[in-house]
Amino acid sequence: MSAFFHQFSRRKFLLTAAASAGAVLLKGCLGNPPEPGGGNAQTQSAVQPIANTNPEQAPETKRVKLGYIPIVESAPLIIAKEKGFFAKYGMTDVELSKQASWGSARDNVEIGSAGGGIDGGQWQMPMPHLITEGIITKGNQKIPMYVLAQLNTHGNGIAIANKHQGKGISLQLAGAKSLFSQLKSTNTPFTAAQTFPAVNQDFWIRYWLAAGGIDPDADIKLLTVPAAQTVANMKTGTMDAFSTGDPWPYRIVKDKIGFLAALTAEIWKNHPEEYFAMRADWVDKNPKATKALLKGIMEAQQWLDNFENRKEAAQILGGRNYFNLPAEILEGPYQGQYDMGDGRKIDDKSMAAYYWKDEKGSVSYPYKSHDMWFITESVRWGFLPKDYLTKAKALIDKVNREDIWREAAKEAGIAAADIPKSTSRGVEEFFDGIKFDPENPEAYLKSLKIKKVNV
Ligand code: CA
Repeated sequence: MSAFFHQFSRRKFLLTAAASAGAVLLKGCLGNPPEPGGGNAQTQSAVQPIANTNPEQAPETKRVKLGYIPIVESAPLIIAKEKGFFAKYGMTDVELSKQASWGSARDNVEIGSAGGGIDGGQWQMPMPHLITEGIITKGNQKIPMYVLAQLNTHGNGIAIANKHQGKGISLQLAGAKSLFSQLKSTNTPFTAAQTFPAVNQDFWIRYWLAAGGIDPDADIKLLTVPAAQTVANMKTGTMDAFSTGDPWPYRIVKDKIGFLAALTAEIWKNHPEEYFAMRADWVDKNPKATKALLKGIMEAQQWLDNFENRKEAAQILGGRNYFNLPAEILEGPYQGQYDMGDGRKIDDKSMAAYYWKDEKGSVSYPYKSHDMWFITESVRWGFLPKDYLTKAKALIDKVNREDIWREAAKEAGIAAADIPKSTSRGVEEFFDGIKFDPENPEAYLKSLKIKKVNV
């Protein structure tokens, strides 16, 4: 453990967040305020929101077990529980279960909460689709899942070991090509890590490398390594790069282990990041409880996007039960302030993580066009066979339940302007000028120089 983390791991942090009553006085953007004094009296504490008492929307069960990974993507789940937003909609027994790795989350959703696992939770994409198809499950068992909401945008980055400072590794890689080829020719290829193969973090580092003319399958070594181990390996010099979410990139810089070459907010502004998805059998059995969970998440997402709440959010997330780290590690990035560690400093609120809305519209709503990009990118790198380009639409229609998101949003009184009209966000553009038209994924694949699929 580094000196920095060691120092903080011994500190105790008081969670004063729950005492801040002002934070629950949410404005009209949260829809119709609950009827004061109606129905279920709140007995927990004065700061809990008043329960939603519409009997027609009462959940079939109050209990659910959701998995999360301690990175900023999980904030809507943690905030919904800690600020009482799940309870407000009748989900008074939500258990949040910290997952040791993405592989454990996958294993736990395979067995479900009845078997000691989880009913759903936080996912990288397209894990719900891959689990539904039985591509990453034991014995290729097909376990249908539903994507119900996007959790966040931004908050991820590419960290590089400090020994590569000043060698031209940045968002643009033109100045570093000789370094990559020299490392490859001396049989010590540039070694990078992500936390689970063929999902977001893998896609971000692959996109960035390929845009800079580096083939992630031929020019470097790209491995799946748990976050903590990667950081240790970067320190000892055996790992060159790491693709991950806050708080890890910031911790790497703060501890002088490395620097940030790029934020995902720079690679693809307002990109889709991680999602809330559940086992389809749980949702089918508990449709009202599913909507209650979604309403709690939506309310948490709106609360999180009020930047005045972010100091409190950092305290809650940093708490011992959750990320177990000093809140200040999260505070800067939560305001869009990133010390990139190579002399570059970003101070731009539009680069921060967002949960409810960003410059392009809804963050929470799960656009089918983004599922299409994740499937297309899987085909690009050979993770899925090419026929998925034609099978994608049917698979996405089965897995992506934006219809449930819409119903929940309407029931929660979300303003019509905050409910997207289309299941597509339209054409997307990346930092290198490449465009993705969800209506024509093949044209996108054709426009890419480095890929593993013939189009
Ligand atoms: Ca992530």
